[in-house]
Order: sequence, then structure tokens, then C-alpha cells
Amino acid sequence: MLPQKHAFAGFLAIFLFYFFAFLIGISVSLLGLLAFFLANLLIDVDHYLIYVWQYHNFNLKRAFHHFSKILASERKKKPKNYVLCIFHTVEFIIVFSIFILWFSYHYPNSIFSLALIYIFAGMLFHIATDIIAAIAEHRIYSTTIYLFSLSARIMRVM
Ligand SMILES: [Zn+2]
Repeated sequence: MLPQKHAFAGFLAIFLFYFFAFLIGISVSLLGLLAFFLANLLIDVDHYLIYVWQYHNFNLKRAFHHFSKILASERKKKPKNYVLCIFHTVEFIIVFSIFILWFSYHYPNSIFSLALIYIFAGMLFHIATDIIAAIAEHRIYSTTIYLFSLSARIMRVM
């Protein structure tokens, strides 16, 4: 899904979350919501890193067009392979959640423990909306798993 749509979905999510929290009388950290919003947007930095790695080019605009074209072509035909978007993988999510558990166990009163949870929620929200958009736009193929799983990719190579 394109960053503009992620920004819109993220904004809608924090608005609704804030609204319902207000209705039931729970106070929500605005900084936390900002962390959620930024994590929801910045997780896609893995696409940019891949572009820089593959093309030895730091041009953000070109990277954006490159992935927009890939996305458009996925709507027409099944992609042969996917680039590895590391922050979108199940494995990264597992490692990151273990790190959060470790961190909040050792630093229970740290503001970062709470921030990490908001960041994690933002990343999960991003991946969920990516998957929902792919289903809605009929972009789910047997190869889609290689986009979201590093181990599936490794097993395929072996
Ligand atoms: Zn994404």
C-alpha cells in the first residue's frame, strides 16, 4: 500500500482510538499516538533500503516510483519474486516482540517500554492494512508469502 494511504489509515486509527478512549474515560498518551503514527509510516523504510542496495541510488522520489510501478504490476499479474521487506516479516515481528518483553521486564518504569508498545502496534497496524489492501485489490498469490516470511524464502532457496 502507498504511504499516503498508510498515513490516512493511521490518522483514522488514532482518531477513532482517541475518540473511544475518551468515551470510556481512559487517558491516552498523545506522544504514544504520535509514535504509533510514525511507526505505521516509517516501517516502509525497508523498501527504500532495498532500493538503495539494488540500484546504488539514494533518490527517494525514484525509489517511490519504482515501488509504485511494482505495486501496479502486481495488480495485473503474479510476481515471480518479491524483494525482502525485512520489517514486514513474521520473523522480525517475533524478534521485536521478544525484545519488547525483555526491555519491559528489565525497565518496567521506563517511558521507552510504553513507547515500544505503541511503535509495535503501529507496525502491526501497517502490516495488517498492507494485507487487507492486497486482498481487496486481488494481489494475493502463492508467492505473497515470500513478502512476509523470511523462513519461507530461505526454505524455497534450499
Ligand atoms: Zn508496507
